[in-house]
Amino acid sequence: MRMKTKLIHGGVDGDPLTGAVNVPIYQVSTYKQEGVGKHKGYEYSRTGNPTRHAVEEYIADIEGGVRGFAFASGMAALSTIVMMFDAGDHFVVGDDVYGGTYRVLNKVFNRFGVEVTFVNTGDVEAIAAAIRPNTKAVMLESPSNPLLKVTDIAAVAEITKEKGLLLVVDNTFMTPYWQNPLELGADIVFHSATKYLGGHSDVVAGLVIVKDEELGERMHFVQNSVGAVLGPQDSYYLLRGMKTLGVRMEEHEANTKRIAEWLSRREDIEKVYYPGLTNHPGHDIAAKQARGFGGMISFDVGSRERAEQVLSRAKIFTLAESLGAVESLISVPAQMTHASIPAERRAELGITDGLIRISVGIEDVEDLIEELEQALA
Ligand SMILES: *Cc1c(COP(=O)(O)O)cnc(C)c1O
Repeated sequence: MRMKTKLIHGGVDGDPLTGAVNVPIYQVSTYKQEGVGKHKGYEYSRTGNPTRHAVEEYIADIEGGVRGFAFASGMAALSTIVMMFDAGDHFVVGDDVYGGTYRVLNKVFNRFGVEVTFVNTGDVEAIAAAIRPNTKAVMLESPSNPLLKVTDIAAVAEITKEKGLLLVVDNTFMTPYWQNPLELGADIVFHSATKYLGGHSDVVAGLVIVKDEELGERMHFVQNSVGAVLGPQDSYYLLRGMKTLGVRMEEHEANTKRIAEWLSRREDIEKVYYPGLTNHPGHDIAAKQARGFGGMISFDVGSRERAEQVLSRAKIFTLAESLGAVESLISVPAQMTHASIPAERRAELGITDGLIRISVGIEDVEDLIEELEQALA
């Protein structure tokens, strides 16, 4: 099956019990057993629930993995991945990963003895140099957040394979519609499904996909032990949202290309970050490893005052954290999503006070451009 067909028919196709074309919301915590341990595959909904199972099978199919797992949030998914490891293990992590990823590793898991080195994963040599005897995994985002830096995933996978490490990729920005890290050599992929996969700003969820059964068993053991699972209602909303991922991503990208080109022609914009622009430093790698460039743009308007002016004039672009929904969103990473990163570190990374990030929605692009025009004037 090709991607667009898989998005409609992948995973569990309908409800085997009733023939309903959608998997219904199994709002249930426990299941009747015929005898001790004799059941129909479900015992207790932390361990497994049919609606959650449907979303898990579906994402495994779409990402090209062996097993999928659904969590209460992207951070719950990442945290559960980290809990597969031991105290004293070391990770090499991208230096402009999502602010919450930075925070949970640096302020929570450090207390449990997990060690982390942050590097620019776009620089494969830097990854190799950061590997220590106790390193167990490399974690990255490509493109990254908010500067849209691109990492050559296959090149990193060569190193992790050679050194016997796991490669973990946060594929939230690209979605499985554009990029499949498992095919590029990653071992574990995770998503904040709150973003494009849900797509409608109505669900907080996380997904993990693993490349083999052995990782699947380990992941399921930790997921069931820790219990940060996605409830049946949200599993249903997520499935419903994901069915239209293909059409939404095509629209997001067409709009984003138009806006990125328009912004880069303006003389009053210092920098435009979008991997789809041919002058973006990661353009060639992005074009090689993904089928599209996504719907996120960051651009630098020069100062915090000007950024605030743009934000205060934006109406269609909703001022909000998050991304990936049908409506266009606008934010200032330095004060919002990346506020938990110390100011000094933000400056080093290039997350300036004048940096604006937009998540381009699927409205009419002419309205979006007109609005940006008046907001920048
Ligand atoms: C939002 C986000 C997360 C965290 O996911 P939640 O669902 O908010 O917990 C992780 N990574 C990226 C790239 C994100 O955008």
